[in-house]
Amino acid sequence: MDKLNKIAGLAVILTSSLFSISSYATWQKDKTYNITILHTNDHHGRFWHNTEGEYGLAAQKTLVDQIRKEVNEKGGSLLLLSGGDINTGVPESDMLNAEPDFIGMSKIGYDAMALGNHEFDNPLSVLRQQQQWANFPLLSANLYEKKTNKRVFDPYALFDKQGLKIAVIGLTTEDTMIISNPKNFEGLEFRDPKIEAQKVINELKKTEKPDIIIAATHMGHYDNGQHGSNAPGDVELARFIQRGDLDMIVGGHSQNPVCMESINQSQKNYIPGTPCIPDQQNGTWIVQAHEWGKYVGRADFTFRNGLFTLINYQLIPVNLKKAEKDANGKTSYSNYTSEIVRDSEMVALLTPYQKKGEEKLNIVIGHSQIDLEGERDKVRYEQTNLGQLVVRAAMDRTDADFGVIGGGGIRASLKAGDLTYRDILTVQPFGNLIGYAEMKGQALINYITAVANRKVGSGGYPQWANITFTHHQDGSVTDIMIGGKPLDINKQYRFSLPDYHADGGDGYPILKHYINTGFVDAEVLKGYIEKNSPITADFLK
Ligand SMILES: [Zn+2]
Repeated sequence: MDKLNKIAGLAVILTSSLFSISSYATWQKDKTYNITILHTNDHHGRFWHNTEGEYGLAAQKTLVDQIRKEVNEKGGSLLLLSGGDINTGVPESDMLNAEPDFIGMSKIGYDAMALGNHEFDNPLSVLRQQQQWANFPLLSANLYEKKTNKRVFDPYALFDKQGLKIAVIGLTTEDTMIISNPKNFEGLEFRDPKIEAQKVINELKKTEKPDIIIAATHMGHYDNGQHGSNAPGDVELARFIQRGDLDMIVGGHSQNPVCMESINQSQKNYIPGTPCIPDQQNGTWIVQAHEWGKYVGRADFTFRNGLFTLINYQLIPVNLKKAEKDANGKTSYSNYTSEIVRDSEMVALLTPYQKKGEEKLNIVIGHSQIDLEGERDKVRYEQTNLGQLVVRAAMDRTDADFGVIGGGGIRASLKAGDLTYRDILTVQPFGNLIGYAEMKGQALINYITAVANRKVGSGGYPQWANITFTHHQDGSVTDIMIGGKPLDINKQYRFSLPDYHADGGDGYPILKHYINTGFVDAEVLKGYIEKNSPITADFLK
């Protein structure tokens, strides 16, 4: 079967539907209701468009307004949901605690969002402030205060749409506990979202009796529930919930467009503007709109006599552009789909924030008493003090015993004197993410040996911290010392490294059990310099 036929085969599923029994319904018999669910996820500070003019809340506003108008004119209703992770990823937004993002989303008219793990990158007080900026509810049914056994945020929100009662439940990945800063949720715990979801649904069925139940989640979509070293995601959730109890999952966290190629198999290289069939598991539709507001997902449903049926689904690109190189190697960009004009009111609202964010990048965040070496002809050939600093920052954030990064990940030097965030972004401009792995015994020795043998002069040449060893001519490695002590063959060690290398970049061994914290490298380095300023030669010994 070719791919198109497969998709056509899958499209048949679109017309099948799920029967929800609702004996207390206020809807009218034999009336067809039109309900459109719009969704985004993993916004990560992208309130402003990028240099190519892709995404951004101003264009998103125009698109949502258009759809809203169209749906209203046809007498339908609309809900706009987010799968969470509004925070972290763009310095201008980070510097302002994502205020422009929450203000902008409020203006667009978001109805509810799930709390993502990155909502906990800041202390809870910042999240409470963001809750004030947002005119829509921030939901998580599975976050509890241990002492009181009470939920910290609202578990769900209810919407009345033309007499139809729609419940939206928020769920957050349990991985938040291991990938975020534990200081930000002292006394709190994330419980199993699957169990909490069923609990809330059972309650709702007794009390509010919603006609439609949607979960806005930040748990990730993993094909056929193969979640690897991540906590279980949306597929596992849908399979766990009693069939018929959950109509739809608006997801996030794995940051992929959920467009299925065949049953349990998503398309690997989804092309913007092409048809997209969402996943369906145990009768529950699962959608996700990649990341950063690159798309607005649009699901058009009908509701008739208790039947909630998906009629049409689309991922609508927000000014995504195809990059093409001409004969001279010059890159040009063209839209995948027609250009969406930016909403002028939104541009006016966000411009001062963008300017303020840019200015904040010039604020001094720390001081170095020494020149920090990051030149290409150094970091790819020998251990440097900046390599040391970068790796120690990652180790500190991940609580690791030692750490490594390929020298190619360091792109500039820092001169002795005051340091700004803008300076730091020149050192780590790529926005790689920091994480860690744990290993012991021979596996660890093999890993260290493989990395130690990355070629001198290449981007993979490793910068190490808190580990020493003798590297022999034949490639072998002996006398490994971690934290000044000989490697203990029975002890499990934790080491930090960027996701790029964990994924096999620069020829590093691919790590199957890698915990990605989602922290951006430059932000980690900034935090470390702030904490340890001034940087002295002594400090980096
Ligand atoms: Zn996430």
